[in-house]
Amino acid sequence: MDEGLKRAFAHVERLLFGDGSRPGLTRSELERLVGYPVKGEGPLGYELPKTPELSGVQAVRFYYYPKDPRIQLIVEVEDLEGRRRLRHFRWNGFTWEASGERKTDLRSTEEALGLVRVGEDYFAGYTPEEAKELALAVRKGEAAGVKYLLCPKDGTRVFYAPQVKTQDLICPTCGNPTLLYKTLTLEAPKDPMEALLEEQRALRQAIEELVRYLRRKLGP
Ligand SMILES: [Zn+2]
Repeated sequence: MDEGLKRAFAHVERLLFGDGSRPGLTRSELERLVGYPVKGEGPLGYELPKTPELSGVQAVRFYYYPKDPRIQLIVEVEDLEGRRRLRHFRWNGFTWEASGERKTDLRSTEEALGLVRVGEDYFAGYTPEEAKELALAVRKGEAAGVKYLLCPKDGTRVFYAPQVKTQDLICPTCGNPTLLYKTLTLEAPKDPMEALLEEQRALRQAIEELVRYLRRKLGP
């Protein structure tokens, strides 16, 4: 692991668990940081301000899930190449502890999510070359049958290779761990403008029918 990452993880670890001079971050302090519940029901994100300790990484983000009984905090450390390392925690009333079997040891950071981003889509378990090839096939509509995960909150798509353990994947955009399993179909994606016009036509027709019905009922 490179020095920048090591320093960032050590910093996050001190922040969460404290050290000799200060206690660790409590759940209510985290809630104040992310703005819960003022900013909504979550998940809520917070990016740590750039400090010298974080100069070796692109960003460190906290995602808070107030309603999730299993995972309440996901820590994301993005390295300078844009690779993200994720750690999952739950609050046990006193401190943050590992959530389930997910890795939370901040020191063992060799495991990366290995996501490659091409355009708006993400590819898990592919080399950058493979990801680009697949992205092209997707764009051309030649990738029917390819499986991906869809984030219902923001529409982010994560295409995954067969060896990828999908239960560990979360939305790389918003941190949402509940992703939908999807398969690309042959049908070309509908032009959003065309879809909108179709919706308008249907709506207009429904209104006309309603007006006709009311006229019949109420007379002229
Ligand atoms: Zn998302």
